[in-house]
Amino acid sequence: MTLTTSRNAALAARDLKHLWHPCTQMHDHESIPMVPIVRGEGAWLIDADGRRYLDGISSWWTNLFGHANPRIAAALAAQAHTLEHVIFGGFTHEPAIELAEELVRISPPGLERVFLADNGSAAIEVALKMSFHYWLNLGHGEKTRFIALSGSYHGETLGALSVSDVALYRTTYAPLLLTPILAPSPDSYQGEPGESPAQIAARRLGELRVLLQRHAHETCAVIVEPLVQCAGGMRMYHPGYLTGLRALCDEFAVHFIADEIAVGFGRTGTLFACEQARVSPDFLCLSKGLTGGFLPLSAVLTTRDVYAAFYAEYSAGKAFLHSHSYTGNPLACRVALETLAIFRDEPVLEHNRLLAAHLAARLAPLRDHPHVADVRQCGMIAAVELVADKASRRPFAAVERRGLRVYLHGLQHGALLRPLGDVVYFMPPYVVTTQEIDQLVDVAIAGIERAVRG
Ligand SMILES: *Cc1c(COP(=O)(O)O)cnc(C)c1O
Repeated sequence: MTLTTSRNAALAARDLKHLWHPCTQMHDHESIPMVPIVRGEGAWLIDADGRRYLDGISSWWTNLFGHANPRIAAALAAQAHTLEHVIFGGFTHEPAIELAEELVRISPPGLERVFLADNGSAAIEVALKMSFHYWLNLGHGEKTRFIALSGSYHGETLGALSVSDVALYRTTYAPLLLTPILAPSPDSYQGEPGESPAQIAARRLGELRVLLQRHAHETCAVIVEPLVQCAGGMRMYHPGYLTGLRALCDEFAVHFIADEIAVGFGRTGTLFACEQARVSPDFLCLSKGLTGGFLPLSAVLTTRDVYAAFYAEYSAGKAFLHSHSYTGNPLACRVALETLAIFRDEPVLEHNRLLAAHLAARLAPLRDHPHVADVRQCGMIAAVELVADKASRRPFAAVERRGLRVYLHGLQHGALLRPLGDVVYFMPPYVVTTQEIDQLVDVAIAGIERAVRG
């Protein structure tokens, strides 16, 4: 069959006529194939011509228990036949009630109030507004700023983008954004030679302390991605930073916002990344894996103290104001509950430890590769940093788009790998098998060989 008569090509042509895709220069699709997926099954995606792709990145980090997971699909269908949606102002329903109960039960201690939204960026907007409004309600309207880490990513709506520091997404829109105070990331890759991750974290905490001494009076919160800065290039850091951050936030009276949108639900080896530092944030933002990758939904968990600052007679004008039409959508809540039930019924985290160890063993040889500066891993997230020069860690010129070559190689060889710049990473669904990990790594290594040539 020639390409022009394939079902893939026919669907791609129709797509490109009217659709506009995210994170894409649409012109690229004059040469890069658009891949129409018709079916999903476990860790696999199947295109319209019947070709299969191993989803090495969980479809943008959302999928946990496989595509079209039968158990989650059945729960969704049953809910759809019962109650698809209802206004969430003044009305409620069991899926949302149960979801709030379950999230409070499984999250770090002290988080006992749940605000729902539709996606990760919306959760960040909620957390930023809630933190600001908390201080306002306490008579501290002078607190209007946020501290974020260099290299951070918290989403792409204007508020979330404001506290993000990935140039690709931010630079163009900078004139529209709030100006955060940037603290240097504890990223272990950016340490001094010979410095351990724990020492880097300690040094960065010292720098954060200086910023807080100067800015705490005007600062609402410090926002971080616990343990792994994902979109910023899967940069990882020592949990000691989070322990120190909790102490600093208490000392300087600013909130600690933990954005676990990507790292939550077992990605880092514990159910929530904050557990590894034994800390509870003031706000915990969740999305992505929350619904097992089925539906958009997010949640912001916060404390009794925060909730209390808004709780007053109507006339006091202290109520939190943020609403989306689909807040608390019962289909999404039901699907989230089924996802959390899988964590209860199956030894997910234990099993992931075996998968993570297997992935680590398979990636280890890449450490000696002349164009690999770093191989790092945190639970079910692993990343390989490609560079032009290993000794100096000089990156490839961005215009060479080396990572894109790995992506294209992957597509040709049945794997969905979508490097962030020149960082090739692995974040597979938890239903992946060790054989599938082997396949994924083999394709990635061959793709890397191709990408670093010439
Ligand atoms: C993906 C992501 C977001 C934004 O979530 P969306 O649902 O894509 O808006 C925010 N923070 C982190 C850490 C993310 O990885």
